[in-house]
Amino acid sequence: MNFETLAIHAGQAADAATGATIVPVYQTVTFTQDAIGADRGFVYSRSGNPTRQALETCIAALEGGRFGLAYASGMAAIAGTMQLVHAGDHVVVADDLYGGSYRLFSKILPGYDVRFTYVDATRPEEVAKAITPATRMVWIESPTNPMLRLIDVAACAEIARRHGAWLVVDNTFATPFLQNPLALGAHVVVHSTTKYLGGHSDVIGGAVVVDDEETLQKLRFAQNATGGVPGPWDAWLTLRGAKTLAVRMRQHEANAKQIAEFLRGRDGVAAVHYPGFADHPGHELARRQMRGFGGMVTIELAGGAAAARTLCESTQIFSLGESLGGVESLIGYPWLMSHAAFAPEEKLRKGISEAVVRLSVGLEDAGDLCADLEAALARCR
Ligand SMILES: *Cc1c(COP(=O)(O)O)cnc(C)c1O
Repeated sequence: MNFETLAIHAGQAADAATGATIVPVYQTVTFTQDAIGADRGFVYSRSGNPTRQALETCIAALEGGRFGLAYASGMAAIAGTMQLVHAGDHVVVADDLYGGSYRLFSKILPGYDVRFTYVDATRPEEVAKAITPATRMVWIESPTNPMLRLIDVAACAEIARRHGAWLVVDNTFATPFLQNPLALGAHVVVHSTTKYLGGHSDVIGGAVVVDDEETLQKLRFAQNATGGVPGPWDAWLTLRGAKTLAVRMRQHEANAKQIAEFLRGRDGVAAVHYPGFADHPGHELARRQMRGFGGMVTIELAGGAAAARTLCESTQIFSLGESLGGVESLIGYPWLMSHAAFAPEEKLRKGISEAVVRLSVGLEDAGDLCADLEAALARCR
């Protein structure tokens, strides 16, 4: 079955007990056992819940993977994945990464004696150089946040495999509609389903997909032991969102392309970063490993920090807010918002200046969105 069909049917057969066409919200803590030790596949909802299981099956199918696990948030999924490594282990991390992951890797996990080396993974040879005998994991995102650089997933997977390490890909920005890291050789895919997968900015969630059963068992054991599970309502909302991922992504991309083209060369706009531009440094790689270029556009304002702040505070349709991937357009200021966890010199090294503004292009009319940006840009001069 193809993507659109899987999104609507994988894990979502009619309910065995009632015939309900839509997976019910199994709002229950416990499951009555037929006899001691004789359950019907579910025992206690931290360990497993039918609504959550439907979501897990669906996301795994969308990623082309064998096994899925749903978590209470993207960060719970990331923290759960990090339970694959132990004291003394070393992780190579692409330095262009989600601020929350950086916070976990820099402030929490070193206390458990897990060590991290940050590299510019747009050059895979830097990943290879950073590997030590203690390296158990390589961690990347592509496209990166917020500069939308492309990282070669297959090249990183090959390096990780050669050294017996896991390659983990945070696929939140690309979504399974546009990129399937497992097919490119990655071992673990993580998602913040809060973003495009849920798609409506109304539910926090996370997911992990793997092909290897032993890895699944480790993750499942750790999740049950630590408890970062989503409730059935949240699983249900995420599953409802995921059904329309394909149509939403097509429109996100069409709108983003139109806005990127509209902004390029416009007065007051110094640069537009969008992987769909033929002269974007990652364009060829994006064509190879993705099926499209996504709905995020990052711009740099000619007027620096003042212009960037004015733009963020002047749009009427784009809401100023954290997050991305919802049907409504969002505008964000990475310097003080999504990337506040990074030191100023770290941000500048990654190209995130005070002039950078990130757009999550929603599903409103693209002409209305362009007009909104044009009016706001006029206030920046
Ligand atoms: C939002 C985000 C996360 C964290 O997800 P939450 O659901 O907010 O915990 C992780 N990675 C990326 C790329 C994200 O955008």
